[in-house]
Amino acid sequence: MTRAATKSRSTSRSVPPAPKRAPKVGFVSLGCPKALVDSERILTHLRAEGYEVAPTYDAADVVVVNTCGFIDAAVDESLDAIGEALEQNGRVIVTGCLGAKPERILERHPRVLKVTGPHAYEDVLNAVHEHLPPQHDPFFDLLPPQGVRLTPRHYAYLKIAEGCNNKCSFCIIPDLRGKLASRRIDDVLREGERLVKAGVKELLVISQDTSAYGADIRYATGTWHDETYQTRFIDLARGLGSLGAWVRLHYVYPYPHVDEVIPLMAERRVLPYLDIPFQHGSPSVLKRMRRPAHSVNTLARIRAWREGCPDLVIRSTFIVGFPGETEAEFEELLAWMDEAQLDRVGCFKYSPVDGATANALPDHVPPEVQEERRIRFMERAAAISAKRLSARVGRRMRVLVDSVEKNVAIARSEADAPEIDGVVRIKGAKTLKAGDWADVEITSADAYDLYARLAAG
Ligand code: SF4
Repeated sequence: MTRAATKSRSTSRSVPPAPKRAPKVGFVSLGCPKALVDSERILTHLRAEGYEVAPTYDAADVVVVNTCGFIDAAVDESLDAIGEALEQNGRVIVTGCLGAKPERILERHPRVLKVTGPHAYEDVLNAVHEHLPPQHDPFFDLLPPQGVRLTPRHYAYLKIAEGCNNKCSFCIIPDLRGKLASRRIDDVLREGERLVKAGVKELLVISQDTSAYGADIRYATGTWHDETYQTRFIDLARGLGSLGAWVRLHYVYPYPHVDEVIPLMAERRVLPYLDIPFQHGSPSVLKRMRRPAHSVNTLARIRAWREGCPDLVIRSTFIVGFPGETEAEFEELLAWMDEAQLDRVGCFKYSPVDGATANALPDHVPPEVQEERRIRFMERAAAISAKRLSARVGRRMRVLVDSVEKNVAIARSEADAPEIDGVVRIKGAKTLKAGDWADVEITSADAYDLYARLAAG
């Protein structure tokens, strides 16, 4: 610990004088896109209050660490990040999911200035004000119209709700983040519109359970551009779909009402892309996982969706080696995958999370069996992905450029969400830049990515 940090702690009860220059906050954001959106919201408020964002520990007057506490590995990463910030800077405020368990943080890092819980924006802001007072009153014209964002300028995550009403046995997010709390539809549509006006070309809709959107506020109505919308999944898709940007729906569950969005996808009002965390294909495992919609015949649903929108891309994540998973249940998952032919797939081995009810289930699967199943599952998923991507060779498509390295542009098609899916690599594209649209012709494919050239004409 540095002497400066010791001094700051000793003065923490009285308000230290504001620095003559703009106060600078360092920010470390860990975890999922939902946490990233929290970070953006906190930074947006701080910028509105005249704070600057420091690019390095050295340049910061105080560092905020937004933590993740989802699985034990994320907890360790968060605790390490707090340690690094303390070592490099000394003045650290902690927030985010792990903040719901302050004792775990304080036990290892008693020197942190303050610990606040997930989505407790006011508490984080108050902690920053206490330890680094603002210099100005808020001048909202200091802010770019889209607020402060941590993603590139051309895409943005749009968080529609906090928390979750489900009780999946492997998950503690409802304990950390509370019950579902939806934002009103007019508020979300206004934010979407603001982002698009500021240059965002792709909106990524996120929450813990997007298909449940609005259930907690009885689908309250709101007005936007003289039209009435309900706070519900389909109205959200309809409203955002009118903005002229790509709209990508994440964390959807296969409830019957999701069928309603398929015609909007077929008309390209929203992207023909569904991110559905199926987690398993065996009904008995899904029941033990206590997954939402676990009794739904998902294969029939996927078939019907693809009939309504043949280009639909489905991405999903799975857990193998869940407690009690037998070889027969795992084989059921493989057979389910063969039938479902999902385009994009991620796979995790089950790992116990402190406080999750699944920990108490009998017959935990040995790690070597988990690993063997993960490999078998991913081989199957990769073969399916390669087959589905090769069917795109020769097609023309519109892509959105994320970056350009030498003369290769790294872009994404309708089928690719940033960070988690594959990309389209366009050779000979040095005139393109991040945020450009490009029309390309697909020349080849591998298991995860497509290769393309700029389309003539
Ligand atoms: S749906 Fe299940 S896994 Fe997802 S946040 Fe809710 S409880 Fe957790």
